[in-house]
Amino acid sequence: MKPFRVNRNTRFLLAGLFAGAILFSIFLASIYFLSGRPALLPSVPTVQSVPGAPAALLPTAAITDTPVFAPALTATPTQILTATSLPPEGEAFSIGESLEGKPLEMYRFGSGPIVRVIIGAIHGGYESNTATLVYLLRDDLKSGLITVPEEITLYLLPVFNPDGFYDYLNLPAGRSNYRGVDLNRNWDAYWAPDWDRTRCFNYAYVTAGEFPFSEPETIALRDFLLNNRVDALISYHSAMSAIFAGGRPEPDPISDDLARTLSAASLYLYPPTNDPGCQYTGQLIDWASANGIAAVDVELTDHQSNDILINRKLLEAFLTWRRKEPTP
Ligand SMILES: [Zn+2]
Repeated sequence: MKPFRVNRNTRFLLAGLFAGAILFSIFLASIYFLSGRPALLPSVPTVQSVPGAPAALLPTAAITDTPVFAPALTATPTQILTATSLPPEGEAFSIGESLEGKPLEMYRFGSGPIVRVIIGAIHGGYESNTATLVYLLRDDLKSGLITVPEEITLYLLPVFNPDGFYDYLNLPAGRSNYRGVDLNRNWDAYWAPDWDRTRCFNYAYVTAGEFPFSEPETIALRDFLLNNRVDALISYHSAMSAIFAGGRPEPDPISDDLARTLSAASLYLYPPTNDPGCQYTGQLIDWASANGIAAVDVELTDHQSNDILINRKLLEAFLTWRRKEPTP
């Protein structure tokens, strides 16, 4: 039997085919890696609805949003103020904003259970000297010239009508807020849409507002007075050199007693027999009286003087005055 023999040419042919096959394999592998490489990366899972699967089992966007909101939720508790915390003594704090967005800034002195409030510039720039006076009284309290008795907490609101106070030239004689509302005719006590103006301020047209408490200023002060269970208040005006007490048709006995005490300390006229007979509607002191707050309007002597010497005495009388026990 003739043994199988591979001649030389055949060996070269086989070696060439083998080498060609290896090179072709390398070529194919290169094509595969180069063209298919992106497909070899881990794929990003996408949220897809699975036909027939219950909706609750499908991933939702809320799951991925949770970490975003977590820091805000963690920070919230530190921003909560306790209901019993008092604002820092002698430092301005805001109880709200005027129609124009100006802050209604108050100052606190003392921390006793009997809460009293003094309000300036309810009639804005037209009675700007009342704000000057309340700021001067604030400075007397800060310096210790006047001290608040232990049982009293006193709040000062020097500028209750900042729109009229700071925009004196652009508003009706600076008396109203930004839309012409007289803030001493917007309270829910004998409120009326209009009134006989013949014996009242009538140098410029002011309104009572569309309805009682239509204005942000009166809402803010009403809420402060009620929430703090205010015992008594003074609202400063000018310029009749007189005192009016809250209550209709006659002043309530408590406001009347407060007015007599303040008149005796200041010599401002009470009862205000120099009143020309203006028809008063929607007034702060009448609303306060109806809500159990002893309330008086104190009218300075003119539109320029701050009357500080008179009103240091008046403030001391206000701080020492107490409600009399009702006689049996
Ligand atoms: Zn006034």
